[in-house]
Amino acid sequence: MTSSNDIRATFLDYFARNGHQVVESSPLVPRNDPTLMFANSGMVQFKNVFTGQEKRSYSRATTAQKCVRAGGKHNDLDNVGYTARHHTFFEMLGNFSFGDYFKEQAIAHAWELLTKDFALPKDRLLVTVYSEDEEAPVYWKKVAGLPDSRIIRIPTSDNFWRMGDTGPCGPCSEIFFDHGPSIPGGPPGSPEEDGDRFIEIWNLVFMQFEEGPPGTRVPLPRPSIDTGMGLERFAAILQGKHDNYDTDTLRALILASAEITGQDPDGKFRVSHRVVADHLRAGTFLIADGVLPSNEGRGYVLRRILRRAMRHAHMMGSREPLLHRLVPALVRQMGAAYPEIQRAEALVTETLKLEETKFRSLLERGLGLLSEESGRLGERGTLPGEVAFRLYDTYGFPLDLTQDALRSEGKTVDVEGFNAAMAEQRRRARAAWAGSGEAATDAVWFDIREKVGASEFLGYSTETAEGEI
Ligand code: ATP
Ligand code: MG
Ligand code: MG
Ligand code: MG
Repeated sequence: MTSSNDIRATFLDYFARNGHQVVESSPLVPRNDPTLMFANSGMVQFKNVFTGQEKRSYSRATTAQKCVRAGGKHNDLDNVGYTARHHTFFEMLGNFSFGDYFKEQAIAHAWELLTKDFALPKDRLLVTVYSEDEEAPVYWKKVAGLPDSRIIRIPTSDNFWRMGDTGPCGPCSEIFFDHGPSIPGGPPGSPEEDGDRFIEIWNLVFMQFEEGPPGTRVPLPRPSIDTGMGLERFAAILQGKHDNYDTDTLRALILASAEITGQDPDGKFRVSHRVVADHLRAGTFLIADGVLPSNEGRGYVLRRILRRAMRHAHMMGSREPLLHRLVPALVRQMGAAYPEIQRAEALVTETLKLEETKFRSLLERGLGLLSEESGRLGERGTLPGEVAFRLYDTYGFPLDLTQDALRSEGKTVDVEGFNAAMAEQRRRARAAWAGSGEAATDAVWFDIREKVGASEFLGYSTETAEGEI
């Protein structure tokens, strides 16, 4: 079996052989971009190189980049456990050309690596291209010999990439693998595309324009390449699996979770094991990169991820902190490739344990309230916003945790009502402070209080740091 560690190495070797500089993954907390919550693709660390603001000694690079997609524009949190292909934490393998080679060479590299080095069967691969990109289909035919029927033209923004409202942009071409007719789902662009039969494995971005004010787009003098391939999706293919969670790394974590909880890894708690495995990775890598659980910004995203995992652990009957006991299994799997999690093992373990210990009794009591209130609702009912707010405010249940809990029963939360209850509480808090007399000082203190969180669970704001590229 080709291990995930081998795949990463083979990918980087291939591009190193082809003149690319192997560059380390950047940390999950972007150094150069306060508007971005977490690194969510390989190109993040090269943004300024693509715009020309920063020069490097090389014009081709390749990386295995740690990514988290759990907030902002790319948020896959709600997909975890439910699709075969999404994680909050994953590794993106990529190759980059900074004004060096362009479209034809990028396609040729991808095709050679997939079909020669990794020996994927050609007839299981198909690609999408942006409908206005006349060049990409020509190269896919010329280089890969793909027939028209397997070059799908997509007119939506899914196949047009932008760095931001202005700046570099261009069409993309996504490579899909067909896992076969036994799995439901149709090819991209078809009405059934949301199934898991055709899985996107690699996205090639052709940065060829510079966008100015709306409507103005000029060709870049030296167009660039940015690609991203999901290691876990690719491992699934090479390991003869359909589902990312059945690949070596994640399966090992699921088995560790099964062993500690005593619950069948493939039984009725299948989803919970997956959520625990995924969130353990996200939590560990975030803590190792310096994020600590808190009530706002990045720390709150981490806290939400951990609390969701804790609810799933609790469902599996675990009444003692669980996540921290899984850290050694993760370090065994990924510590060689990412020594930072080895170095941070003690910190991660302690942080997880503390976070779990603090939340445990609130979780139990909150779940009691939730099941009572949910029992009152009819089938597919909607939980009143004010109950969701009470769970949030008194029991520390992030809104998405409550939503996740109700989802399996086909129930939802009145989000507008939740927001209204939150706004009302803030208004009351402000009024109470203003009423104390020293208005000017109070206003200053109120702002500080809001920033640091007045009580443990005040100060929630998804807007504060959810800006995106
Ligand atoms: P999808 O449409 O399946 O959500 P995407 O188009 O959002 O994927 P890209 O932004 O193109 O993904 O990222 C490049 C590659 O990274 C994808 O082709 C995929 O292999 C991988 N990838 C993206 N999101 C995830 C995720 N949440 N978990 C695992 N791999 C992912
Ligand atoms: Mg996506
Ligand atoms: Mg896609
Ligand atoms: Mg894509």
